Amino acid sequence: MSYLKNRGQIQNKPLKLARFERFNKSKVRKFGKNIHRCRKCGKSRGIVRQYELLYCRQCFREEAEKLGFRKYT
Ligand SMILES: [Zn+2]
Repeated sequence: MSYLKNRGQIQNKPLKLARFERFNKSKVRKFGKNIHRCRKCGKSRGIVRQYELLYCRQCFREEAEKLGFRKYT
């Protein structure tokens, strides 16, 4: 996360900060890989979108029983 780290260093210099943001801010995407992220760990791969869960597959495995899912196999 060098973006946030560098941002912290120039936080009190508004002009430099504005310039830095203009060139280095992460892109806001309408579609593609980063629109859905895991709500627990923030991963963007392997997201369970069914029922608006938005957990990645690893976190879904941990949280499933708390949410009321049961294993039948
Ligand atoms: Zn996750």
